[in-house]
Amino acid sequence: MSQPAIAAATGNRGKLRELRALLSGLGFEVRGLDALPPIELPDEGDDYEANAVAKARAVAEASGLPALGDDSGLEVDALGGAPGPRSARYGGPDLDDPGRVAHLLEALAEVEPGRRGAHFVCVAALVTPAGAVQVARGEWPGRILGAARGVGGFGYDPVFWVDELGAAAAELPAALKNRVSHRARALAGLREALAGVAAARG
Ligand code: IMP
Repeated sequence: MSQPAIAAATGNRGKLRELRALLSGLGFEVRGLDALPPIELPDEGDDYEANAVAKARAVAEASGLPALGDDSGLEVDALGGAPGPRSARYGGPDLDDPGRVAHLLEALAEVEPGRRGAHFVCVAALVTPAGAVQVARGEWPGRILGAARGVGGFGYDPVFWVDELGAAAAELPAALKNRVSHRARALAGLREALAGVAAARG
């Protein structure tokens, strides 16, 4: 029996790599946007769930495949939860991942180690071509380091310290990050819905 196909509604290569690993582990053949006809993803607002659903819906409608959207961000306690849903745009549109990390370290320069708590949030949305929507949220607690460590992952991983593992997220093997991260937790919440999609299309 062939593997059921699912579309990953993201243009972020780091996220795509993780979603591919997580969904392949559940038996799906994962199509990235590069394997689909050109699709314009909707503009993003400040609501994780609305953003995740809008991305997945756009891709499900355009591709005819069930689609998984992910909207995620880093919430830093000392910044009142910022950058949150704006994490990809933090510091302005011209910054890349290392530039955003530098901007964050600068914003926290005066914040002592004991007050650098933070967590990642991921809201994952599964939308079928018929329009059925399922949503799940995952969080991953940690602390923001004073300087970058590690070369794995993407985004803010080099400055996100995971107490329970004694390592920065960028120092974790990909398979370990994919067992414990906010993204892994959100997808675990969609496990039943994903199994239903797989059964219907396999
Ligand atoms: P968006 O969901 O496309 O709006 O982008 C989420 C942004 O949050 C990414 O561009 C990263 O900067 C950050 N982010 C989300 N998940 C992770 C992660 O697993 N590691 C590091 N940064 C992340």
